[in-house]
Amino acid sequence: MSFSQLGLSEKVISAVAAAGYKTPTPIQEQAIPHVLARRDVLGIAQTGTGKTAAFTLPMLTLLEKGRARARMPRTLILEPTRELAAQVEESFARYGANKLNVALLIGGVSFDDQDLKLTRGVDVLIATPGRLLDHFERGRLLLTGVELLVIDEADRMLDMGFIPDIERICKLVPFTRQTLFFTATMPSEIRRITEQFLHNPVRVEVARPATTVATTTQLLAKSGREPHEKRDTLRRLIRSADGLKNAIVFCNRKRDVATLFRSLARHGFSVQALHGDMDQPARMAALEQFRKGEVTLLVASDVAARGLDISDVSHIYNFDVPFHPDDYVHRIGRTGRAGRSGTAITIVAGSNDAKAVAAIEKLIGQSIPVMETLPGAPAAPQQHRIAAEPPRGRHHPRRTGPITRMDDARSRRAPVPPPRPRSEPPPRPRSEPPPRPRSEDADTSHLPAFLLRPVKV
Ligand code: AMP
Repeated sequence: MSFSQLGLSEKVISAVAAAGYKTPTPIQEQAIPHVLARRDVLGIAQTGTGKTAAFTLPMLTLLEKGRARARMPRTLILEPTRELAAQVEESFARYGANKLNVALLIGGVSFDDQDLKLTRGVDVLIATPGRLLDHFERGRLLLTGVELLVIDEADRMLDMGFIPDIERICKLVPFTRQTLFFTATMPSEIRRITEQFLHNPVRVEVARPATTVATTTQLLAKSGREPHEKRDTLRRLIRSADGLKNAIVFCNRKRDVATLFRSLARHGFSVQALHGDMDQPARMAALEQFRKGEVTLLVASDVAARGLDISDVSHIYNFDVPFHPDDYVHRIGRTGRAGRSGTAITIVAGSNDAKAVAAIEKLIGQSIPVMETLPGAPAAPQQHRIAAEPPRGRHHPRRTGPITRMDDARSRRAPVPPPRPRSEPPPRPRSEPPPRPRSEDADTSHLPAFLLRPVKV
Protein backbone atom coordinates (compact mmCIF):
# COMPACT_ATOMS: atom_id res chain seq x y z
CA MET A 1 0.00 0.00 0.00
CA SER A 2 1.30 3.47 -0.86
CA PHE A 3 0.15 6.92 0.22
CA SER A 4 -1.20 7.59 -3.27
CA GLN A 5 -3.79 4.82 -2.82
CA LEU A 6 -5.42 6.37 0.23
CA GLY A 7 -7.32 9.19 -1.49
CA LEU A 8 -5.11 12.04 -0.23
CA SER A 9 -4.68 15.15 -2.37
CA GLU A 10 -1.65 15.59 -4.61
CA LYS A 11 -0.29 18.33 -2.38
CA VAL A 12 -0.48 16.16 0.69
CA ILE A 13 1.10 13.20 -1.10
CA SER A 14 4.04 15.43 -2.09
CA ALA A 15 4.35 16.72 1.48
CA VAL A 16 4.45 13.16 2.78
CA ALA A 17 7.15 12.26 0.27
CA ALA A 18 9.09 15.36 1.32
CA ALA A 19 8.80 14.21 4.95
CA GLY A 20 10.53 11.01 3.86
CA TYR A 21 7.66 8.60 4.53
CA LYS A 22 7.62 5.71 2.11
CA THR A 23 4.60 3.70 3.19
CA PRO A 24 1.65 4.41 5.48
CA THR A 25 1.69 2.85 8.92
CA PRO A 26 -1.16 0.43 9.74
CA ILE A 27 -3.22 3.08 11.51
CA GLN A 28 -2.75 5.47 8.58
CA GLU A 29 -3.65 2.82 6.04
CA GLN A 30 -6.80 1.90 7.92
CA ALA A 31 -7.99 5.30 9.09
CA ILE A 32 -7.22 7.76 6.28
CA PRO A 33 -9.74 6.49 3.67
CA HIS A 34 -12.53 6.61 6.30
CA VAL A 35 -11.61 10.10 7.44
CA LEU A 36 -11.71 11.25 3.82
CA ALA A 37 -15.12 9.56 3.44
CA ARG A 38 -16.27 11.73 6.38
CA ARG A 39 -16.90 8.80 8.69
CA ASP A 40 -16.42 8.99 12.45
CA VAL A 41 -13.36 7.01 13.46
CA LEU A 42 -12.54 5.31 16.72
CA GLY A 43 -8.80 4.74 16.58
CA ILE A 44 -7.27 2.52 19.20
CA ALA A 45 -3.59 3.27 18.99
CA GLN A 46 -0.86 4.83 21.00
CA THR A 47 1.84 7.31 20.18
CA GLY A 48 4.58 5.94 18.00
CA THR A 49 2.11 4.35 15.61
CA GLY A 50 1.95 7.33 13.27
CA LYS A 51 -1.52 8.23 14.50
CA THR A 52 -0.91 11.99 14.31
CA ALA A 53 -0.43 11.77 10.55
CA ALA A 54 -3.46 9.45 10.41
CA PHE A 55 -5.62 12.47 11.20
CA THR A 56 -3.51 15.45 10.05
CA LEU A 57 -2.99 14.19 6.49
CA PRO A 58 -6.67 13.66 5.63
CA MET A 59 -7.56 16.87 7.45
CA LEU A 60 -5.14 18.77 5.24
CA THR A 61 -6.78 17.22 2.19
CA LEU A 62 -10.30 18.07 3.39
CA LEU A 63 -9.34 21.62 4.37
CA GLU A 64 -8.07 22.46 0.90
CA LYS A 65 -11.65 23.43 0.12
CA GLY A 66 -13.36 26.23 2.03
CA ARG A 67 -12.26 29.17 4.15
CA ALA A 68 -12.20 29.98 7.82
CA ARG A 69 -14.36 32.70 9.36
CA ALA A 70 -13.35 34.93 12.26
CA ARG A 71 -13.67 33.26 15.66
CA MET A 72 -15.21 30.16 14.09
CA PRO A 73 -12.58 27.43 13.72
CA ARG A 74 -13.35 24.85 11.05
CA THR A 75 -11.68 21.97 12.84
CA LEU A 76 -10.73 21.37 16.44
CA ILE A 77 -8.11 19.02 17.87
CA LEU A 78 -8.09 18.38 21.61
CA GLU A 79 -4.88 17.24 23.25
CA PRO A 80 -4.28 16.46 26.95
CA THR A 81 -0.97 18.30 27.31
CA ARG A 82 0.57 21.44 25.92
CA GLU A 83 3.54 19.53 24.53
CA LEU A 84 1.34 17.17 22.58
CA ALA A 85 -0.66 20.10 21.27
CA ALA A 86 2.56 21.81 20.16
CA GLN A 87 3.72 18.58 18.55
CA VAL A 88 0.52 18.33 16.52
CA GLU A 89 0.99 21.93 15.42
CA GLU A 90 4.49 20.99 14.23
CA SER A 91 3.00 18.09 12.27
CA PHE A 92 0.75 20.46 10.37
CA ALA A 93 3.75 22.63 9.58
CA ARG A 94 5.75 19.57 8.49
CA TYR A 95 3.05 18.36 6.14
CA GLY A 96 2.83 21.70 4.41
CA ALA A 97 -0.10 23.49 6.01
CA ASN A 98 1.37 26.86 5.07
CA LYS A 99 -1.80 28.08 3.36
CA LEU A 100 -3.90 27.21 6.38
CA ASN A 101 -4.29 29.11 9.62
CA VAL A 102 -3.31 26.81 12.44
CA ALA A 103 -3.70 28.12 15.98
CA LEU A 104 -2.66 26.70 19.31
CA LEU A 105 -4.71 27.40 22.44
CA ILE A 106 -2.73 26.15 25.39
CA GLY A 107 -2.20 27.35 28.92
CA GLY A 108 0.85 29.32 29.92
CA VAL A 109 0.75 31.50 26.80
CA SER A 110 -0.75 34.99 26.54
CA PHE A 111 -4.49 35.12 25.86
CA ASP A 112 -4.14 38.19 23.67
CA ASP A 113 -1.89 36.60 21.05
CA GLN A 114 -4.19 33.60 20.89
CA ASP A 115 -7.20 35.87 20.64
CA LEU A 116 -5.67 37.76 17.74
CA LYS A 117 -5.24 34.52 15.84
CA LEU A 118 -8.85 33.58 16.47
CA THR A 119 -10.09 36.87 15.04
CA ARG A 120 -8.22 36.18 11.80
CA GLY A 121 -10.08 32.92 11.27
CA VAL A 122 -8.65 29.51 12.03
CA ASP A 123 -8.71 26.38 9.89
CA VAL A 124 -7.20 24.14 12.53
CA LEU A 125 -7.50 24.90 16.21
CA ILE A 126 -5.34 22.71 18.45
CA ALA A 127 -6.17 23.09 22.11
CA THR A 128 -5.97 21.70 25.60
CA PRO A 129 -9.51 21.47 27.02
CA GLY A 130 -9.12 23.97 29.87
CA ARG A 131 -7.72 26.79 27.77
CA LEU A 132 -10.27 26.20 25.03
CA LEU A 133 -13.12 26.56 27.52
CA ASP A 134 -11.49 29.69 29.00
CA HIS A 135 -11.59 31.33 25.58
CA PHE A 136 -15.11 30.10 25.01
CA GLU A 137 -16.34 31.48 28.33
CA ARG A 138 -14.82 34.85 27.55
CA GLY A 139 -16.98 34.86 24.44
CA ARG A 140 -13.91 34.97 22.17
CA LEU A 141 -14.63 31.75 20.37
CA LEU A 142 -17.58 30.15 18.61
CA LEU A 143 -17.58 26.40 18.19
CA THR A 144 -20.60 26.23 15.93
CA GLY A 145 -18.46 26.18 12.77
CA VAL A 146 -16.48 23.06 13.72
CA GLU A 147 -16.85 20.49 10.95
CA LEU A 148 -14.36 18.01 12.33
CA LEU A 149 -13.40 17.29 15.93
CA VAL A 150 -10.36 15.23 16.92
CA ILE A 151 -10.11 13.92 20.47
CA ASP A 152 -6.61 12.60 20.85
CA GLU A 153 -5.18 10.54 23.73
CA ALA A 154 -8.63 10.20 25.27
CA ASP A 155 -7.55 7.79 28.00
CA ARG A 156 -4.90 10.28 29.03
CA MET A 157 -7.64 12.91 29.24
CA LEU A 158 -9.48 10.55 31.56
CA ASP A 159 -6.43 10.14 33.79
CA MET A 160 -6.01 13.89 33.95
CA GLY A 161 -9.63 14.52 34.87
CA PHE A 162 -10.57 16.21 31.58
CA ILE A 163 -13.58 14.05 30.73
CA PRO A 164 -16.19 16.56 32.00
CA ASP A 165 -14.51 19.24 29.84
CA ILE A 166 -14.52 16.90 26.84
CA GLU A 167 -18.20 16.16 27.31
CA ARG A 168 -18.95 19.85 27.50
CA ILE A 169 -16.94 20.61 24.38
CA CYS A 170 -18.63 17.76 22.49
CA LYS A 171 -21.97 19.40 23.26
CA LEU A 172 -20.76 22.81 22.09
CA VAL A 173 -19.70 21.65 18.63
CA PRO A 174 -22.40 20.90 16.04
CA PHE A 175 -24.08 17.51 16.24
CA THR A 176 -23.35 17.00 12.55
CA ARG A 177 -19.58 17.32 12.84
CA GLN A 178 -17.26 14.42 12.05
CA THR A 179 -15.43 13.03 15.08
CA LEU A 180 -12.09 11.24 15.17
CA PHE A 181 -11.40 9.72 18.54
CA PHE A 182 -8.05 8.23 19.52
CA THR A 183 -7.27 6.30 22.65
CA ALA A 184 -4.71 3.68 23.60
CA THR A 185 -7.02 1.80 25.94
CA MET A 186 -10.78 1.46 26.36
CA PRO A 187 -11.72 1.82 30.02
CA SER A 188 -15.47 1.88 30.64
CA GLU A 189 -15.60 5.67 30.97
CA ILE A 190 -14.01 6.07 27.55
CA ARG A 191 -16.35 3.49 26.04
CA ARG A 192 -19.29 5.47 27.41
CA ILE A 193 -18.00 8.69 25.81
CA THR A 194 -17.50 7.00 22.45
CA GLU A 195 -21.03 5.58 22.57
CA GLN A 196 -22.41 8.98 23.40
CA PHE A 197 -20.48 11.16 20.98
CA LEU A 198 -19.45 9.07 17.99
CA HIS A 199 -21.95 8.30 15.25
CA ASN A 200 -21.60 4.85 13.76
CA PRO A 201 -17.80 5.00 13.93
CA VAL A 202 -15.36 2.86 12.02
CA ARG A 203 -13.21 1.13 14.58
CA VAL A 204 -9.56 0.99 13.64
CA GLU A 205 -7.18 -0.74 15.96
CA VAL A 206 -3.49 -1.43 15.95
CA ALA A 207 -2.24 -4.19 18.17
CA ARG A 208 -1.09 -3.15 21.56
CA PRO A 209 2.41 -4.43 22.01
CA ALA A 210 2.95 -5.10 25.68
CA THR A 211 6.49 -5.77 24.70
CA THR A 212 9.57 -3.69 24.79
CA VAL A 213 11.87 -3.03 21.88
CA ALA A 214 14.44 -5.75 21.42
CA THR A 215 17.17 -3.21 20.72
CA THR A 216 16.91 -1.80 24.24
CA THR A 217 19.03 -3.33 27.00
CA GLN A 218 16.99 -3.37 30.18
CA LEU A 219 18.54 -3.56 33.62
CA LEU A 220 17.66 -3.09 37.26
CA ALA A 221 19.96 -1.27 39.67
CA LYS A 222 19.49 -1.81 43.36
CA SER A 223 19.70 1.17 45.64
CA GLY A 224 19.07 2.27 49.16
CA ARG A 225 15.55 3.62 49.48
CA GLU A 226 16.32 7.12 50.78
CA PRO A 227 16.12 9.80 48.11
CA HIS A 228 19.74 10.87 48.61
CA GLU A 229 20.83 7.24 48.22
CA LYS A 230 18.83 6.92 45.03
CA ARG A 231 20.36 10.12 43.69
CA ASP A 232 23.81 8.79 44.51
CA THR A 233 23.00 5.57 42.67
CA LEU A 234 21.75 7.54 39.70
CA ARG A 235 24.91 9.62 39.50
CA ARG A 236 27.02 6.49 39.60
CA LEU A 237 24.95 4.92 36.86
CA ILE A 238 25.23 7.95 34.65
CA ARG A 239 28.94 8.36 35.16
CA SER A 240 29.64 4.71 34.40
CA ALA A 241 27.28 4.47 31.44
CA ASP A 242 28.49 3.07 28.15
CA GLY A 243 27.95 5.28 25.13
CA LEU A 244 25.73 7.74 26.92
CA LYS A 245 24.78 10.42 24.42
CA ASN A 246 21.76 11.73 26.26
CA ALA A 247 19.29 10.41 28.78
CA ILE A 248 15.81 10.94 30.12
CA VAL A 249 15.45 10.39 33.84
CA PHE A 250 11.86 9.63 34.87
CA CYS A 251 10.40 10.39 38.26
CA ASN A 252 6.88 9.47 39.37
CA ARG A 253 6.13 12.86 40.91
CA LYS A 254 6.66 16.34 39.56
CA ARG A 255 7.94 17.50 42.90
CA ASP A 256 10.70 14.90 42.73
CA VAL A 257 11.54 16.02 39.20
CA ALA A 258 12.34 19.46 40.56
CA THR A 259 14.40 18.10 43.45
CA LEU A 260 16.37 15.72 41.29
CA PHE A 261 16.96 18.37 38.65
CA ARG A 262 18.43 20.75 41.24
CA SER A 263 20.59 18.00 42.69
CA LEU A 264 21.99 16.94 39.31
CA ALA A 265 22.68 20.54 38.37
CA ARG A 266 24.46 21.07 41.69
CA HIS A 267 26.60 18.05 40.93
CA GLY A 268 27.66 19.62 37.65
CA PHE A 269 25.55 17.61 35.21
CA SER A 270 24.19 19.17 32.06
CA VAL A 271 20.50 18.86 32.85
CA GLN A 272 17.03 20.25 32.22
CA ALA A 273 13.67 19.45 33.80
CA LEU A 274 10.23 18.88 32.34
CA HIS A 275 7.17 18.73 34.54
CA GLY A 276 3.64 20.01 34.61
CA ASP A 277 4.22 22.88 37.05
CA MET A 278 6.69 24.65 34.78
CA ASP A 279 5.31 27.45 32.66
CA GLN A 280 4.90 26.78 28.99
CA PRO A 281 7.90 28.73 27.64
CA ALA A 282 10.14 26.98 30.17
CA ARG A 283 8.76 23.56 29.17
CA MET A 284 9.23 24.21 25.49
CA ALA A 285 12.73 25.62 26.05
CA ALA A 286 13.76 22.59 28.13
CA LEU A 287 12.51 20.22 25.48
CA GLU A 288 14.18 22.13 22.70
CA GLN A 289 17.52 22.19 24.52
CA PHE A 290 17.32 18.45 25.01
CA ARG A 291 16.28 17.76 21.44
CA LYS A 292 19.14 19.88 20.10
CA GLY A 293 21.66 18.17 22.37
CA GLU A 294 22.41 21.35 24.31
CA VAL A 295 21.77 19.47 27.53
CA THR A 296 22.57 15.82 28.14
CA LEU A 297 19.96 14.90 30.72
CA LEU A 298 16.24 15.59 30.90
CA VAL A 299 14.52 14.86 34.19
CA ALA A 300 10.83 14.36 33.45
CA SER A 301 7.51 13.24 34.80
CA ASP A 302 5.33 10.82 32.85
CA VAL A 303 2.68 13.34 31.96
CA ALA A 304 5.11 15.93 30.68
CA ALA A 305 6.96 13.37 28.61
CA ARG A 306 3.85 11.56 27.40
CA GLY A 307 3.83 10.91 23.72
CA LEU A 308 6.70 13.24 23.02
CA ASP A 309 8.47 12.37 19.84
CA ILE A 310 12.06 12.55 20.99
CA SER A 311 14.07 10.22 18.85
CA ASP A 312 17.60 9.06 19.41
CA VAL A 313 17.74 8.93 23.19
CA SER A 314 20.59 6.63 24.22
CA HIS A 315 19.64 6.03 27.87
CA ILE A 316 16.56 5.97 30.03
CA TYR A 317 16.81 5.99 33.80
CA ASN A 318 13.80 5.24 35.92
CA PHE A 319 14.67 7.08 39.07
CA ASP A 320 11.39 5.71 40.39
CA VAL A 321 9.83 2.45 39.31
CA PRO A 322 6.64 3.60 37.58
CA PHE A 323 3.39 3.00 39.44
CA HIS A 324 1.77 1.45 36.37
CA PRO A 325 3.54 -1.24 34.35
CA ASP A 326 2.32 0.37 31.11
CA ASP A 327 4.28 3.46 32.01
CA TYR A 328 7.45 1.42 32.07
CA VAL A 329 6.96 0.33 28.48
CA HIS A 330 6.12 3.85 27.48
CA ARG A 331 9.15 5.31 29.22
CA ILE A 332 11.67 2.90 27.85
CA GLY A 333 10.12 3.29 24.42
CA ARG A 334 11.83 6.71 24.36
CA THR A 335 15.04 4.85 23.59
CA GLY A 336 15.84 2.08 21.13
CA ARG A 337 13.67 3.85 18.55
CA ALA A 338 13.87 3.12 14.87
CA GLY A 339 16.19 0.15 15.36
CA ARG A 340 18.81 2.10 17.31
CA SER A 341 20.19 0.49 20.42
CA GLY A 342 19.35 1.92 23.80
CA THR A 343 19.74 1.22 27.48
CA ALA A 344 17.04 1.51 30.11
CA ILE A 345 18.00 1.19 33.76
CA THR A 346 15.47 1.14 36.59
CA ILE A 347 16.51 1.98 40.11
CA VAL A 348 14.88 -0.40 42.54
CA ALA A 349 14.75 0.58 46.18
CA GLY A 350 12.78 -1.51 48.61
CA SER A 351 10.06 -4.10 48.55
CA ASN A 352 7.34 -1.92 47.04
CA ASP A 353 9.58 -1.27 44.07
CA ALA A 354 10.25 -4.98 43.80
CA LYS A 355 6.50 -5.61 43.58
CA ALA A 356 6.14 -2.97 40.89
CA VAL A 357 9.00 -4.55 38.95
CA ALA A 358 7.32 -7.95 39.19
CA ALA A 359 4.18 -6.44 37.62
CA ILE A 360 6.29 -4.93 34.85
CA GLU A 361 8.02 -8.22 34.17
CA LYS A 362 4.64 -9.93 33.96
CA LEU A 363 3.42 -7.34 31.46
CA ILE A 364 6.46 -7.49 29.22
CA GLY A 365 6.78 -11.26 29.58
CA GLN A 366 10.44 -11.24 30.47
CA SER A 367 12.56 -10.77 33.53
CA ILE A 368 14.86 -7.79 33.72
CA PRO A 369 18.44 -8.62 34.75
CA VAL A 370 19.86 -7.06 37.88
CA MET A 371 23.12 -5.19 37.63
CA GLU A 372 25.87 -6.53 39.78
CA THR A 373 26.97 -4.13 42.46
CA LEU A 374 30.68 -3.80 42.91
CA PRO A 375 32.33 -2.74 46.18
CA GLY A 376 32.19 0.96 46.83
CA ALA A 377 28.56 1.48 45.96
CA PRO A 378 27.01 2.04 49.34
CA ALA A 379 23.53 2.52 48.06
CA ALA A 380 22.93 -1.11 47.14
CA PRO A 381 23.75 -3.29 50.07
CA GLN A 382 22.08 -6.53 49.02
CA GLN A 383 23.25 -8.58 46.12
CA HIS A 384 20.84 -9.97 43.55
CA ARG A 385 17.75 -9.93 45.69
CA ILE A 386 15.64 -6.97 44.76
CA ALA A 387 12.98 -7.80 47.33
CA ALA A 388 15.38 -7.33 50.20
CA GLU A 389 14.98 -4.23 52.33
CA PRO A 390 17.86 -1.79 52.06
CA PRO A 391 19.14 0.08 55.09
CA ARG A 392 17.24 3.17 56.09
CA GLY A 393 20.08 5.42 57.30
CA ARG A 394 19.41 8.95 56.21
CA HIS A 395 22.91 10.22 55.72
CA HIS A 396 24.99 7.32 54.69
CA PRO A 397 28.66 8.05 54.25
CA ARG A 398 29.24 8.20 50.53
CA ARG A 399 32.28 6.90 48.82
CA THR A 400 33.29 7.44 45.28
CA GLY A 401 34.85 4.07 44.66
CA PRO A 402 34.11 1.72 41.82
CA ILE A 403 30.72 2.08 40.48
CA THR A 404 27.72 -0.14 39.95
CA ARG A 405 28.43 -1.99 36.73
CA MET A 406 26.34 -4.02 34.39
CA ASP A 407 26.96 -7.72 34.63
CA ASP A 408 26.71 -8.28 30.91
CA ALA A 409 29.27 -7.92 28.17
CA ARG A 410 28.68 -4.18 27.96
CA SER A 411 30.44 -3.70 31.28
CA ARG A 412 33.83 -4.18 29.67
CA ARG A 413 33.52 -1.09 27.55
CA ALA A 414 35.14 2.12 28.73
CA PRO A 415 32.93 4.52 30.68
CA VAL A 416 31.86 7.55 28.75
CA PRO A 417 32.48 10.88 30.36
CA PRO A 418 30.01 13.44 28.94
CA PRO A 419 28.03 14.31 32.02
CA ARG A 420 30.91 14.01 34.46
CA PRO A 421 30.77 16.84 36.93
CA ARG A 422 33.59 19.34 37.11
CA SER A 423 34.00 18.71 40.78
CA GLU A 424 32.28 16.42 43.17
CA PRO A 425 30.63 18.46 45.88
CA PRO A 426 30.96 16.92 49.30
CA PRO A 427 27.88 15.23 50.64
CA ARG A 428 25.84 17.55 52.71
CA PRO A 429 22.71 17.15 54.68
CA ARG A 430 19.67 18.18 52.77
CA SER A 431 16.08 18.28 53.62
CA GLU A 432 14.35 15.67 51.56
CA PRO A 433 10.70 15.91 50.65
CA PRO A 434 8.71 13.26 52.47
CA PRO A 435 7.39 10.45 50.31
CA ARG A 436 4.00 11.29 48.95
CA PRO A 437 1.19 8.86 49.27
CA ARG A 438 0.18 9.06 45.67
CA SER A 439 1.43 10.55 42.45
CA GLU A 440 0.36 13.89 41.08
CA ASP A 441 1.60 12.82 37.73
CA ALA A 442 1.01 9.13 37.65
CA ASP A 443 -1.20 7.95 34.88
CA THR A 444 -1.74 4.85 32.88
CA SER A 445 0.09 4.80 29.70
CA HIS A 446 0.36 4.62 26.01
CA LEU A 447 2.78 2.15 24.75
CA PRO A 448 5.36 2.97 22.11
CA ALA A 449 4.74 1.04 18.98
CA PHE A 450 6.74 1.31 15.84
CA LEU A 451 6.23 -2.22 14.75
CA LEU A 452 2.55 -2.80 14.82
CA ARG A 453 0.31 -5.14 13.03
CA PRO A 454 -3.20 -4.11 12.14
CA VAL A 455 -5.97 -5.96 13.89
CA LYS A 456 -9.04 -6.52 11.77
CA VAL A 457 -12.29 -5.81 13.54
P1 AMP B 1 3.04 9.53 16.19
O1 AMP B 1 2.54 8.17 16.53
O2 AMP B 1 2.04 10.32 15.45
O3 AMP B 1 3.57 10.24 17.40
O4 AMP B 1 4.28 9.37 15.17
C1 AMP B 1 5.49 8.81 15.57
C2 AMP B 1 6.61 9.12 14.59
O5 AMP B 1 6.44 8.40 13.38
C3 AMP B 1 6.72 10.57 14.19
O6 AMP B 1 8.10 10.93 14.30
C4 AMP B 1 6.31 10.63 12.76
O7 AMP B 1 7.03 11.63 12.06
C5 AMP B 1 6.70 9.25 12.25
N1 AMP B 1 5.83 8.78 11.16
C6 AMP B 1 4.50 8.95 11.02
N2 AMP B 1 4.04 8.34 9.91
C7 AMP B 1 5.10 7.74 9.34
C8 AMP B 1 5.28 6.95 8.14
N3 AMP B 1 4.26 6.63 7.36
N4 AMP B 1 6.50 6.52 7.87
C9 AMP B 1 7.55 6.82 8.68
N5 AMP B 1 7.46 7.56 9.80
C10 AMP B 1 6.26 8.01 10.13
